Amino acid sequence: MNYFIAGAGGFIAGHLIKRLNSEGHKVVCADVKPLDLWFQLNDDNVNYSLDLTNLDNCNIIFDKHDINVVINMACNMGGIGFIEWNKAKCMLSVLINTHLLMACKERKIEKYFFSSSACAYNKDLQSNEFIDGLKEEDAYPANPEDGYGWEKLFSERMCRHFYEDFGVNTYVARFHNIFGPLGTYDGGREKSPAALCRKVALSKKNKINDIEIWGDGEQTRSYLYIDDCLDAVFKLLDSDYHNPINIGSEEQVSINQMVDIIENISNFKVKREYNLDMPQGVRGRSSNNDLVKKILKWTPKYSLHQGLEKTYFWIESMINNEKNNSSIFTMDY
Ligand code: NAD
Repeated sequence: MNYFIAGAGGFIAGHLIKRLNSEGHKVVCADVKPLDLWFQLNDDNVNYSLDLTNLDNCNIIFDKHDINVVINMACNMGGIGFIEWNKAKCMLSVLINTHLLMACKERKIEKYFFSSSACAYNKDLQSNEFIDGLKEEDAYPANPEDGYGWEKLFSERMCRHFYEDFGVNTYVARFHNIFGPLGTYDGGREKSPAALCRKVALSKKNKINDIEIWGDGEQTRSYLYIDDCLDAVFKLLDSDYHNPINIGSEEQVSINQMVDIIENISNFKVKREYNLDMPQGVRGRSSNNDLVKKILKWTPKYSLHQGLEKTYFWIESMINNEKNNSSIFTMDY
């Protein structure tokens, strides 16, 4: 298989490429960020710094390389603050999916993977703290997260129609909060596990106990460790399942419970300052994994505690070694 990975400089794609390389694949990679800002860069791959919202740029890749499998992890996104304050930018990522699908159709690419999100689910089902996990059919009737969620839901449907009308083998995963080391933890695009690990690590380093929590901390989510996510992505690509499918965890926790876990890992107690004016997203969200268990015979191996341990100590080491340079995470595009 000859793989092309879009969004290769990002968190999930960086880990995915590392796994492909460890299995002997040399891959073609692209990201809008300059190469020196990629979380993981392997010079043995073919690496492009290109804006994939542009169709000509997508075609450059396919003209130069004989690609069989396209994995699209590219998206202009971030945590709840970024997606609430940048709805238009989030929606422009529709161009990446559109142009990659068009290029796949022209070249008869064998497989196309699209990274959708739990933000595609109907918000009305997520107004209580602890909810039943969201099932795939709960995306309709449609009322997703404004901006980012609509882009994901629309792009999912485009995948479906390229599959039905043009025979492009599309695969769509709805990721639920993927986390781990070697991702954004600072600068405004970070998500809650990384943001909270950073806040606790900084608090410990500076011996200032107060940390800011967005909202009252009772909002809930479920979080999936990166290695589990990759196992599921590769199982999906090996399957013949072409509808959207959850890739997430059923271990639902509140933000306050996650802070408890991080305090335990860091061996440091913080004082929580709740800021009710900051974005919080839906009140409660979790994955229902019935379908993914049945179709892919997959279930997560890591607990939230185990995943947070790896994530916290990576972020703490970045902070303590003063390698954290916020500017590298705040590039505007
Ligand atoms: P990330 O921000 O670390 O990676 C996305 C990458 O896409 C970035 O490196 C970015 O520079 C790149 N990109 C953005 N615009 C581009 C463009 N025009 N051309 C080329 N590259 C571009 O995010 P991630 O956490 O690795 O997420 C990967 C995918 O999974 C995204 O589609 C995201 O929406 C989806 N997802 C992630 C999560 C999660 O919790 N991490 C949850 C749900 C869905």
